[in-house]
Amino acid sequence: MTDVSSNPLLAPSTLPYGLPDYRQITPQHYLPAFEQAFAEHRREISVITRARSMPTFENTMVPLERSGELLGRISRTFYTVSSADGTPEIQQIEETLAPLMSAHADAIGLDGALYWRIKTLHDALDGLELAPEDRYLVERHYREMTQAGAGLDDEQKAALTELNSRLSVLTTTFEKNLLADTNDLAVVFDAADELDGLTSGELSAAAQNAADRGLDGKYVITLTLFTGHPYLSTLTRRESRERLLAASRSRGSRGNDHDNRAVLREIVRLRAERAALLGHASHAAYVTSDETAGSPDAVHALLRRLAAPAARNAAREQAALQAIVDAEPEPFALDAHDWAFYTEKVRAAEYDLDRTALRPWFDAERVLQDGVFRAASELYGVTFTERPDLPGYHPDVRVFELHNADGSALGLYVLDLYTRDTKRGGAWMNSIVSQSGLRGTDPVVVNNLNVPKPAPGEPTLLTLDEVTTLFHEFGHALHGLFAVVTYPHFAGTAVFRDFVEFPSQVNEMWILWPEILTAYARHVDTGEPLPAAVVEKLHASEAFNQGFATSEYLAASWLDQAWHSLSAEDAAADIDVAEFEARALAEIGLDNPVVPPRYSSTYFAHVFSGGYSAGYYSYIWSEVLDADTVEWFRENGGLTRENGERFRTRLLGVGGSKDPLEAYRDFRGRDADIASLLKRRGLAD
Ligand SMILES: [Zn+2]
Repeated sequence: MTDVSSNPLLAPSTLPYGLPDYRQITPQHYLPAFEQAFAEHRREISVITRARSMPTFENTMVPLERSGELLGRISRTFYTVSSADGTPEIQQIEETLAPLMSAHADAIGLDGALYWRIKTLHDALDGLELAPEDRYLVERHYREMTQAGAGLDDEQKAALTELNSRLSVLTTTFEKNLLADTNDLAVVFDAADELDGLTSGELSAAAQNAADRGLDGKYVITLTLFTGHPYLSTLTRRESRERLLAASRSRGSRGNDHDNRAVLREIVRLRAERAALLGHASHAAYVTSDETAGSPDAVHALLRRLAAPAARNAAREQAALQAIVDAEPEPFALDAHDWAFYTEKVRAAEYDLDRTALRPWFDAERVLQDGVFRAASELYGVTFTERPDLPGYHPDVRVFELHNADGSALGLYVLDLYTRDTKRGGAWMNSIVSQSGLRGTDPVVVNNLNVPKPAPGEPTLLTLDEVTTLFHEFGHALHGLFAVVTYPHFAGTAVFRDFVEFPSQVNEMWILWPEILTAYARHVDTGEPLPAAVVEKLHASEAFNQGFATSEYLAASWLDQAWHSLSAEDAAADIDVAEFEARALAEIGLDNPVVPPRYSSTYFAHVFSGGYSAGYYSYIWSEVLDADTVEWFRENGGLTRENGERFRTRLLGVGGSKDPLEAYRDFRGRDADIASLLKRRGLAD
């Protein structure tokens, strides 16, 4: 056993806000600390479950919410680092930890005695006269443990554990197969002229890819997760585009060792069996029952509502692209691999907009201080002070302290902007310390991006997409920072998956907001604002190509729903994957062969190996609330303290402590109206 004096993870940090002191922590500290934390958490739970007295809110829920504090602290300290600076040593620890974490989570989550106490409280809920947040806490714990299977008998629990463990093997296999087939299918080109249209940098990267594979003198293009590859928009040779798209779409369905068809059918079957075991008609019914959507019917109704107008818009866009092709010397019928290429021609002609030329106006420091922070100050009255005295886990990490308008301390915002080999891809927000009245903690939140680091002394210039990402992730950060809840279970972003993207999407509205844009979008050398004509083009091109983008997204969402809406019995049938897909897409009218789904089943990692099974619809579901909220801000004068205060107190601050749709009504004065989303995406009739 490691004692407190020699392991800094076992004692609370002495830094402000409980920021972990990474200067004191070495990788060897983690596993022993986790072991002690698991034991402590088990001990805390057993104190609750062994109590002789009947369950009360005070003897069950309160200690439950106090429990696991050490484990939570160590976990957040560790996973912050493993995702953003996962050295081989840290990765090794993460691998060792994975089965220990899941076994621990199962032991607590399926604890029959704990479940009995919570269920007893839940059954008597109306007579307990609890405060609203307390009452909701009982409901949520009861619901979550029931979803996990804590209410099953021992035989059923054994069957469930068996299903879960087989599923975890299958989802890992799916991911491994996908990775292997993606690598195998990297497309080899013999000569540079086949890749006409790529930049010299892209071409030399392709030559390097080839050399790395021992194919000197050739060119290799590696595939991305999407069906559509970014190079499809610039490759001038039709055959090259065709080869690239065909390779991308064949992943996981070629009858080789990496074929994912049987794997995904078994995943679908076992998920349906598990749903049946837990009392649901399908996996989609099981998943959506504990989301704001409530049922697959609600999800299907939304997807159906959007599909027809999206398909119509895509057909209109297709006709415009076909017209360009028809004007060429050798016209042909536009195919899926031609879409992006001709779309870029239209974009250039209609909007005269070269998005890559905008970077000098997006100096990262100005975007942060005069854009992201300024919008938050004007809306919410918060101020930001950089604290270079506070250490991060890496020299590039910056720490900012936030204060409220009345001068009171709010929390810390940690920003890790740059890409590095040890950081996973994408961008995200996570909490290092969650706000909780019960535990007396203030929030510490982190934003990670993957912006390439410039040479020393050079400014960091962002793309418009990176600017968008920063505003988006900061929206998640505000959700965490503004939490005002009693129980840690409810802090900030601890909300339903089909709700969590909503606040971050809303924060993107300030990117092109005139007062904010003029403040931050200034030329790095001259300080000149972005020319008005460019701003106009940015606004004008917002709805461009939305028919295609919406259709390919909806098609993938529909495939996810189609697979996961099968009953256990139907899922047991011998299903041909390609036929199943074709039938599903035809059923919703998204079967235009020129607009394929964003992912086909055999490489749809979000739903077959990631955490989005029966949940890929969440993005558009959240966007209904987002668009409706943006409309509200516009109607009420936009960027004002009054508007910010209302959004902060009625929505962001309550986190997961009440029914999110109730919080939404409280903020908006009514339920969300889909009209704003239809307008934004050009889908209104
Ligand atoms: Zn997000």
